Amino acid sequence: MASMVRISHYVNSTEVLGPGKRFVIWFQGCHKRCHNCINPDGQREDGGSLISVEHLCSLITKEKDIQGVTISGGEPFLQFEQLKELAGKIRKNTKLDLMLYSGYTLAELKKRFGCKEIGEFLQEIDIFIDGEYKEELDMGGMYRGSDNQKFYFFTERYREFKEQIFSAKNRQIEFYVTTDNETYMIGIPPKGFYRDFLEKVGEV
Ligand code: SF4
Repeated sequence: MASMVRISHYVNSTEVLGPGKRFVIWFQGCHKRCHNCINPDGQREDGGSLISVEHLCSLITKEKDIQGVTISGGEPFLQFEQLKELAGKIRKNTKLDLMLYSGYTLAELKKRFGCKEIGEFLQEIDIFIDGEYKEELDMGGMYRGSDNQKFYFFTERYREFKEQIFSAKNRQIEFYVTTDNETYMIGIPPKGFYRDFLEKVGEV
């Protein structure tokens, strides 16, 4: 039977969540409750929708103009089996790089799943960003919400850009409107942006 993964949404191509143009997938469900979470809709475990890992991979392989895939959330490790399957298929069938976010720290993941399991999985992840969002440590760093979140470069692919990525402050966001008139914000917004934005559109 095909493995199903619960995701919040995906976008076929964006330039704001990792190097170059990327396919981005947001896994649905997160147990953390970070103050001013930048994706509160992604927390509910029964939200989003189910899609087969196979189908998601076919959507990715159809994209000819991307250099990588970013997997964010929500919390991807709440569906670790599907995450492993998805990453494995991307690795096997494409030359795309992989960037992965988790609200858990690397130490928390090792404790939860075991060092061997986590070590084997992460060795093929090009860029891994760990840890929950802490608004008081939000210093505008590129690709991360707050400075407690660490970057890990488990492959050679982006290691030479490590310092550049650590020190960059040019965060960008995009709004993506689907044919069903749903709007998604992509990227890491400036501190307080989401709250201010919702106030302006009258949702809080
Ligand atoms: S880990 Fe991410 S999705 Fe989960 S509550 Fe924190 S900011 Fe929100």
